[in-house]
Amino acid sequence: MTNKEIAKQFDLLASIMELLEENAFKIRTYQNAYLGLRKWDIPLKNMSIEEMSAIPGVGKSSAEKIQEALQNGEIQALSAIKEKVPSGVVEMLKINGLGPKKVRQIWKELGIESVVELLYACNENRLIEVKGFGLKTQQELTQKINFYLQSQGQFLYANLDKLESTVFLAFENPFWTRVGLFGRQLPVLNQMEYLTSEIPVVKRDQSEITLVKVDGNRWSFECQGIPIITYVVDGDDFEKVKWEMSASEEFLSFTQKDLTNIDWADIMYDKSIFEILKKPYLPVECRESYILDHWDGFNSLDLITPGDIKGIVHNHSTWSDGIHTLEEMAMECRRLDYSYFVISDHSKSAGYANGLSVERLFQQWEEIDFLNKKMEPFKTYKGIESDILVDGRLDYEDEILKQFDLVVASVHSVLNMDEEKATQRLITAIENPYTRILGHPTGRLLLSRKGYPLDMLKIIDACAANNVVIELNANPYRLDLDWTWIAPAMKKGVMISINPDAHSRGGIQDVNYGVIAARKGGLTKEFCLNAKSQSEWETWLRSK
Ligand SMILES: [Zn+2]
Ligand SMILES: [Zn+2]
Repeated sequence: MTNKEIAKQFDLLASIMELLEENAFKIRTYQNAYLGLRKWDIPLKNMSIEEMSAIPGVGKSSAEKIQEALQNGEIQALSAIKEKVPSGVVEMLKINGLGPKKVRQIWKELGIESVVELLYACNENRLIEVKGFGLKTQQELTQKINFYLQSQGQFLYANLDKLESTVFLAFENPFWTRVGLFGRQLPVLNQMEYLTSEIPVVKRDQSEITLVKVDGNRWSFECQGIPIITYVVDGDDFEKVKWEMSASEEFLSFTQKDLTNIDWADIMYDKSIFEILKKPYLPVECRESYILDHWDGFNSLDLITPGDIKGIVHNHSTWSDGIHTLEEMAMECRRLDYSYFVISDHSKSAGYANGLSVERLFQQWEEIDFLNKKMEPFKTYKGIESDILVDGRLDYEDEILKQFDLVVASVHSVLNMDEEKATQRLITAIENPYTRILGHPTGRLLLSRKGYPLDMLKIIDACAANNVVIELNANPYRLDLDWTWIAPAMKKGVMISINPDAHSRGGIQDVNYGVIAARKGGLTKEFCLNAKSQSEWETWLRSK
């Protein structure tokens, strides 16, 4: 164990103690030990307790703790205190600029227990209201958290997708094809991977890209901390390598026997591979194992595309925790050429998100009526994101629920349930006659929170029986329903609504990341609720 590692343990110990508001004198002792050891370059493992006690900042009690660290790998007091705080809260201490006092506030006042939950809370504007924070702090924190998450080696597809144009601009010859998990558009991945037939040439005066390593035909670069791997492959092998790097293993082994004798040098496009297989063409993102069961009936032209989305469902405004007004949100949807918009601010039990009391609901409806006159024929619908209470009930009386155009029912509290309880809670909400859409069904946050365990087949069956649509929440951190459940839902006749859950104007366009995930799962236009034209949509609204 290095001196630096030991020093860091003291730092962490002091920070967690400060977070728990423990004895200030002891905290100072450990901070001093950290400061002293940080610069100490004689290996501690060769020193006696007496010698260690003489290091500036280190007294006898800290010297004993160094000994513990050397013997057991960790200071005992540190192991013990970690038990008192959720590990995600400890992790927040690693974010630059978030000291123990702020972390304590976030944990105790907002009940946030992980880094991505915190990022999500920034996204939902929940930090603005906290004392000592504000819009600007929230924006800075968002950047810092993103930076921290990137340093963990796992990235959201959405972020890599956004980075691609910057990467391409830095090369002379980016005639590259995406492959690997990036090509397959998995929601979480560890690098951007490309295939190319030419050695990549970095532009002279660019500062974005660093060459990390060349290993055979594999050229590794880095851009903003994200690994970029390019494989340089000779023309004759290009299509073969591309094919093999653009599908799941199960898919490849299924198709392998029919491709053993082909001359890959003759293949110009991957469409010809499907001709050889005598199977319908599949875009790269659909070359997954689930497709093997329905491949023959598959038509890639039926898949949902961003242009098929007609309406933007599930959005927030300043009426609850959004940062733009209802009118600003509606205007933005119209500007983006959508033909309808469903506002669904938080409901009355969502105190943390300024949820709508019945009285405020009536005021919001007045504003919506006014807007609908003003913006005709564009239409804003009266929706709500109603909290699913612990017992599965929704949090308004039926008298109110029946007046909405649309109720999205979502779980936001008490997330630690076992599978049976969680499944029953959701089924009760699905059976509520006013529920039309089940919002972010598992509550997961990618890179951070798994979501409560569910018997998803039972949930799908309940949605089918009650004519309830399942949301694919398009926020890149959610993408919940997971793409792997889309085919089973369609099989039972359950529709999917691709909803941005926007808390700002900018958030509306997240709907496109939902479309990407939906295509991966094979969602067709027919099964996408918000691909309905406005008149079909109105018919659907009246159908229950
Ligand atoms: Zn929600
Ligand atoms: Zn929402």
